[in-house]
Amino acid sequence: MHVVVVGGGFGGMAGAARLAKLGHSVTLLDRAPTLGGALGQLTHEEFTFDTGPSTTLLPAVVRDLFRKSGRPLEREVELVPVEVIREHRFTDGTSLSLTGGSRAAQKHAFEALGAGLGSQWVAYVDELGEVWERVRKDYLERPWDPALAHRDAAALLKARTTLARTFRRAFGDDRLALVAGHPFTAEGHDLARVPAWLGTVSYVEQKFGAWTVEGGLGGLAAVLTKRLATRKVDVRTSTPVHDLVVSDGRVRAVRTDAGDVEADAVVCAVDPHHFPALRPLVRRTTSTSLPTLTHLGVAGELPAWVAAAGETVLHGRSGEPTLVLRHGGSAPDGHAVLTVQHRGPATGDVVELLARRGVDLRGRVVTRLERSPADLAEAWGGSPLGMQWRGRATVRRRLGPTTPVAGLYAAGAHATPGAGLPFTGLSGSLVAQAIGPA
Ligand SMILES: Cc1cc2nc3c(=O)[nH]c(=O)nc-3n(C[C@H](O)[C@H](O)[C@H](O)COP(=O)(O)OP(=O)(O)OC[C@H]3O[C@@H](n4cnc5c(N)ncnc54)[C@H](O)[C@@H]3O)c2cc1C
Repeated sequence: MHVVVVGGGFGGMAGAARLAKLGHSVTLLDRAPTLGGALGQLTHEEFTFDTGPSTTLLPAVVRDLFRKSGRPLEREVELVPVEVIREHRFTDGTSLSLTGGSRAAQKHAFEALGAGLGSQWVAYVDELGEVWERVRKDYLERPWDPALAHRDAAALLKARTTLARTFRRAFGDDRLALVAGHPFTAEGHDLARVPAWLGTVSYVEQKFGAWTVEGGLGGLAAVLTKRLATRKVDVRTSTPVHDLVVSDGRVRAVRTDAGDVEADAVVCAVDPHHFPALRPLVRRTTSTSLPTLTHLGVAGELPAWVAAAGETVLHGRSGEPTLVLRHGGSAPDGHAVLTVQHRGPATGDVVELLARRGVDLRGRVVTRLERSPADLAEAWGGSPLGMQWRGRATVRRRLGPTTPVAGLYAAGAHATPGAGLPFTGLSGSLVAQAIGPA
């Protein structure tokens, strides 16, 4: 069978590698000159910055992808654990280091914020272990099948409870909600519209920790590109797809400047809103908005507490943006890289804002690159953050892994419960299972 994968971000690459291994003839089309989408790196004046992800949860997803598509990951690149997943600095001057892999360490850290908060936090996370097992088995690791799914899994996906409501019940302190809600607020979601079962991200953080690659996680894109070549995937970069050709309820081809590329099956691993043929299928969904990124090349070192954490969150008072700091990438000797992410209009210069929040880099910034939400959408052809959560209905209003069009499948952030390499990587496995061996 000839399968055309549209979009070579992590989701599309994961699907293409697995489908090729299953014996299909696979063509991967991407509008950009290189593959990876948000997973990648940008070099500017001797500084290399991760453009999107700098750490990943659930390393098993990346390892499984490599093992199932050829040589294991360890033969290509080493995933290294990041001890402090996130450093939170709250507006009242208190702080929390969220470590991965240990319930006891998390309990201790939250207890230091206030008496009883450690118990509140672990009680919240403990309950999510069972939820994770259910959702993982029936929804994330195999295509949803109501006939096979446990009734608890169906009930979880249908439940009205949201994260905002759960946090009000579970936490007696706003800082706990800021920590548990961060993965979603950073992606622009409204916690009052995110289903409560997605709190499982906190469980995954506690249980499996965060991981990265020396020199920046974005380096994984080049390794995967190599894997696609090994698997003989026909990769065509600088090839934007303008629409899908659908007739009699079946997808027949994808439309490019060079003509139609015929296919027995198509995997859409980009924002489906782009394609006129798919818009009616996703009309009740919207894509998540993008943040602003400022990449800074800095002389000297970063503060030790910033350098030690995979991510640092400097919470803002009301009306001020929360700043998210990452340092994935590489710099010349005696220098460091820092990427600052924020949402909404800037309330001043980022370097000044950082200084006011305890990260004083003034006089040490040797290079600087601003990327607005519009710049990022142009570079990535849409939002790598997937669909905006609008309550439980988003699960069925989204496409993927199968769709109502015969021969059409969906992978990537728009086809999964959210952004992130774990979900998008699993989406590649789901389309491969749905299509099956050649
Ligand atoms: C700033 C930022 C930080 C992030 N940090 C993390 C993190 O720390 N950890 C983590 O796990 N995740 C993180 N994520 C999320 C993660 O990067 C994404 O969810 C994931 O990479 C999305 O992969 P994807 O394949 O769905 O889409 P994308 O990465 O968006 O890839 C889509 C691909 O499709 C191509 N394309 C688009 N339109 C067309 C078209 N019409 N024709 C042909 N090709 C097309 C694009 O060129 C691109 O290569 C972050 C995202 C962002 C934006």
